[in-house]
Amino acid sequence: MADRPMLERLVKLNDVWLSRKDVLHGIQKYDVSTKKIRITTDCGEIITVNNSRRSASARSLRNSKYRKVCKHCKLSEERINRFVAKDFYDPGITYVEAPVKKSAPKKVLKKGMTAQTQSAEASPAAVSAESPAIKTEESASMPVNEKKEKFSPSQKKRLEALMVADEIDLNDSNLSDYATLEADLTAQRKAELRDIYANSREHMLAKLERDISAFLISKGFIEIKSSILIPEEYIVRMGIDKDLELSKQVFRTDDGQCLRPMLAPVLYNYLRRFDKILPDPIKIFEIGPCYRKESDGSSHLEEFTMVNFCQMGEGSTRENLVQLLDEFLTYLGIEYKIEGDECMVYGATVDVMHGDMELSSAVVGPVPMDIDWGINKPWIGAGFGLERLLKAKYKFKNIKRGSRSEYYYNGIYTNL
Ligand SMILES: [Zn+2]
Repeated sequence: MADRPMLERLVKLNDVWLSRKDVLHGIQKYDVSTKKIRITTDCGEIITVNNSRRSASARSLRNSKYRKVCKHCKLSEERINRFVAKDFYDPGITYVEAPVKKSAPKKVLKKGMTAQTQSAEASPAAVSAESPAIKTEESASMPVNEKKEKFSPSQKKRLEALMVADEIDLNDSNLSDYATLEADLTAQRKAELRDIYANSREHMLAKLERDISAFLISKGFIEIKSSILIPEEYIVRMGIDKDLELSKQVFRTDDGQCLRPMLAPVLYNYLRRFDKILPDPIKIFEIGPCYRKESDGSSHLEEFTMVNFCQMGEGSTRENLVQLLDEFLTYLGIEYKIEGDECMVYGATVDVMHGDMELSSAVVGPVPMDIDWGINKPWIGAGFGLERLLKAKYKFKNIKRGSRSEYYYNGIYTNL
């Protein structure tokens, strides 16, 4: 008992719980982990709080101030009185405070010392709590400052998170009030997630990967799955010099490896090896995670999913590449336009754009770097970021919506 943190003991002794709105509940049971306490109230609510001696919960339990009693908990007068009177702190029961980890000295609650004086010592904020009185309504009826903006920054942030794309203009003066709008959007998003659970149950990123695989396999490309950890030397051999921006974006391990920033190096190796085994032309592709240190968040991810497909040998022409790109994007239902550009890794490239967003840098080989990889035949190839394809297709405001995430499922905010 003596080595237990404060809140756990308060929970045990008081046998009641004060909600954040100062509603008094009975405690049916509580479980303690290394850092948290999970309390089940008599009315069935489950609350998880930090098992801290300095938390707001600990302070309010010490103060014995409550606004109202929960109707559903059916607390007896005896339990309420016990909480208010703090009989368990009374003379006769001496207990030792839990030792504080670092500097604070051990406190001993001595005979005759009441819980009130103790809490006033512990927290200056609690000084006003002279007696276990019911809180006045003052704080609740405080006038709210009227602002010109319809929503506060935090309200705006919440509403934006609840929107999947840009479906609502938050500056529209005809919008309903925050509470209504928030409730409507939350209900809508919950309904969508329930619908996914009832019907498709597919994650959009995983589904896109499956769809792309199926498309490329049907076009004669063989699927590759290679390691995400690659030798750092591959980056150098890709012509990505230490001074190049892309080199600085590479996540390196301490043993000469790195998280692949692209799929191309290993595909080069596959082309070279398969050329000795498979008939011409060699058509291969890989889909999988790639990593780059990024600072611009709206259309870049540090962890993203690439698809890279390439063909080597017969038919490796610009015309065929553009034809393949068109079939690919038409199959996925994504609008695009093609621009020519110079790329820092390869020679002449074919840029595939969706508005201002680059979807792909496609290449018509050969390029000088081929020599370093033992490639002696013409080739064509393209790489796409799957999260960008999703952003383009669903008009997501942020690329994170369709990415690997614990906050978004198929573009829908999960904190509802
Ligand atoms: Zn209750």
